[in-house]
Amino acid sequence: MAERAILHILPPQPSSDGAGVKLDRYFPVPGIVALDPFLMLDAFGSESATDYIAGFPSHPHRGFETVTYMLAGRMRHRDNAGNEGVLGPGGVQWMTAGRGIVHEEMPEQEEGEMRGFQLWVNLPARDKMRAPRYQNIEPEDIPEVTRPDGTKVRVIAGTVDGVAGAVTEIAVAPVYLDVALPAGLTFRHGVPEGHTALVQVFQGSARVGSQPIARGELALLGDGDEAAVTAGPEGARFLLIAGQRLNEPVARYGPFVMNTKEEIMQAIADFQSGRF
Ligand code: MN
Repeated sequence: MAERAILHILPPQPSSDGAGVKLDRYFPVPGIVALDPFLMLDAFGSESATDYIAGFPSHPHRGFETVTYMLAGRMRHRDNAGNEGVLGPGGVQWMTAGRGIVHEEMPEQEEGEMRGFQLWVNLPARDKMRAPRYQNIEPEDIPEVTRPDGTKVRVIAGTVDGVAGAVTEIAVAPVYLDVALPAGLTFRHGVPEGHTALVQVFQGSARVGSQPIARGELALLGDGDEAAVTAGPEGARFLLIAGQRLNEPVARYGPFVMNTKEEIMQAIADFQSGRF
């Protein structure tokens, strides 16, 4: 196996989205528009309701997928197809917007901690206008692998030690793992050439080879066919996220991500005339 080295460290960039939710954005940022097939990664986390209470009122999406992973707190999701549900601690929503949805994502609490991640995953051209689809995964339905050495892995997508993740049938063959790794141990996971691999450390610290990743940082890994992450002296908890590169043109306007400018104009027209 060829171990992937760190190509780039992306620090969290304090930002705001929705109706004024404070969050840390890793990308897109100036100079990094996307990390094919991923279009955006945000981390949100606060114990102050004023940072999240405004939520994400009604807004559209077309042409890609949104993946929300909650660590703490509760968000209510509701959309124009009649779907509604509450995403709680440890739960995941993998939403394939396809040809279009209009939804809102609002806090289901007025105080306390709200913490989690939202990842945007691109769809290949052939799937951009497919029917919308949801995979809402309750916390207890996410398989957890516990190794004799104490490593614990929540398998959201991908396969670890023969255990398949909760989310399936996604175009870019994603890996989405929440790994809790004891001090000094190394977690290895095969990630084929042609797939992009990201590591976000949210507890403790970690390193890839001799290159450190501090808590709160995102590492983009370089070429190779294996990701190997070693926990620092306090252990580490991190996300390992990977997916197959699409190598297709990206035309992007806010919540619409298509392949051409014409398709973006069509998306705006369709949304404004109520065809989502
Ligand atoms: Mn949304």
